[in-house]
Amino acid sequence: MFGSLQFAGQEHVDSWYAASAGPFKARASLTESLAADVCVVGAGYTGLSAALELAERGYRVVVLEGARVGWGASGRNGGQVLSDLACGMDLVRDELGQQAASEVWNMTREAVDLVGQRCAKHHIDADLVWGYFHAALKDRQLREQAAWQEDAARHYGYDRFELIGKDRLPEMVNSERYVGGLYEPDAGHIHPLKYALGLARAAEAAGVRIFEHSAVTEIVPGATVRVKVGKLEVRAESVVLAGNTYLGKLVPELDKKIMPVGTYIIATEPLGEGRARSLIPKNLAVCDANFVLDYFRFTRDTRLLFGGRVSYTGMTPVGLRETMRRSMLKVFPSLENVKIEYDWGGFVDITMNRAPHFGRVKPNIFFAQGFSGHGVALTGLAGKLMAEAIHGEAERFDLFAKLSHHSFPGGSFLRTPALVMATSYYRLRDYL
Ligand SMILES: Cc1cc2nc3c(=O)[nH]c(=O)nc-3n(C[C@H](O)[C@H](O)[C@H](O)COP(=O)(O)OP(=O)(O)OC[C@H]3O[C@@H](n4cnc5c(N)ncnc54)[C@H](O)[C@@H]3O)c2cc1C
Repeated sequence: MFGSLQFAGQEHVDSWYAASAGPFKARASLTESLAADVCVVGAGYTGLSAALELAERGYRVVVLEGARVGWGASGRNGGQVLSDLACGMDLVRDELGQQAASEVWNMTREAVDLVGQRCAKHHIDADLVWGYFHAALKDRQLREQAAWQEDAARHYGYDRFELIGKDRLPEMVNSERYVGGLYEPDAGHIHPLKYALGLARAAEAAGVRIFEHSAVTEIVPGATVRVKVGKLEVRAESVVLAGNTYLGKLVPELDKKIMPVGTYIIATEPLGEGRARSLIPKNLAVCDANFVLDYFRFTRDTRLLFGGRVSYTGMTPVGLRETMRRSMLKVFPSLENVKIEYDWGGFVDITMNRAPHFGRVKPNIFFAQGFSGHGVALTGLAGKLMAEAIHGEAERFDLFAKLSHHSFPGGSFLRTPALVMATSYYRLRDYL
């Protein structure tokens, strides 16, 4: 059930990713209590990245995963490897000043580079392709993109964006729906589940012990933290919380800062190289500039993966496949007779201001969450920064931790209506 927030005992969601990732290595569950230097909760990109970095620094690391490696958002997402933050850089500059914002921007670029470096270093064949297009549906959005291009060059030293007008649009995406957009050669797309499984292999090769079907039921803080899995426990000097929206009530102070929002993807039958390249000639990842956005790209076997549609209830929307197909046809009407072979979804961890939420719940219990749909690359950096902080180099982690965050009004029961109201406002703005 891909609408479920209950992960315990779950296998991988029935997606094109699961069908194409190759055989899954089964890992044992925790059967005895253990001691470790660091215990990581959650085997998505955030947790695996932290575990890998820590093991490479010589720490004994245990990862506890309630379902399977990559079972959460890391094994289901659109695979778009994005720089920047979901909240945009203006928010960071307004809160922390230009100098700090430049450091954060450089780290978002580092996050993207890290994906490529890890694939190369650890021999992870995850279908990585470079090139990204941020498609504008309106002239207003194109003007905003032009302003960002200028700002990025002037204030962040990044001059690789290319503004594309209507005349050159077919080089990027062959669709009448857009008026142009921003081309970014240094972002791209990846097979997300292959990447997660590859990170897990790399972490294990570095000495990390990963236990699947081992849901953490309680965390008892202290100089030695006791991370409980039923009657068993892992005792560790430090803990990394990397459970995304699934952590839920385990850590209430984190739960109230994020809201799980469902987002969904369909995969067509393979279209063949010729047809795929006629629609997206450079094989780019594409995302539109709306607040409630469409994101799409081709797979290695030439299926179009088309994502979008949001749900705030935790339930899978009725008629999902057909609704998504209609959205896809607005972009590519020529795909009318193409078969949709898969649909699936997952939860993104949205914060109120869309800024990532990093910090400590106790001096030795670290967390990173709130990637707000922008986490494929940034999670890798988050794991690295938590490893640095545990190793005594917390400056970069603390820079992110300075970003302020509000709880969703009304707590977990009423945050849904609050978010729906906020989103309705932005959705309305998408039409203007
Ligand atoms: C459909 C979809 C499309 C997306 N598309 C994109 C995209 O194109 N580009 C982009 O940048 N971002 C995208 N995202 C967001 C991105 O996937 C996430 O930000 C990222 O994967 C989060 O990684 P994570 O490791 O923090 O969390 P997850 O991958 O969700 O991992 C958390 C893990 O923790 C485990 N866990 C939780 N609680 C416990 C517990 N108590 N005990 C043990 N284990 C526990 C869970 O089982 C899970 O495996 C998308 C997300 C979704 C759902």
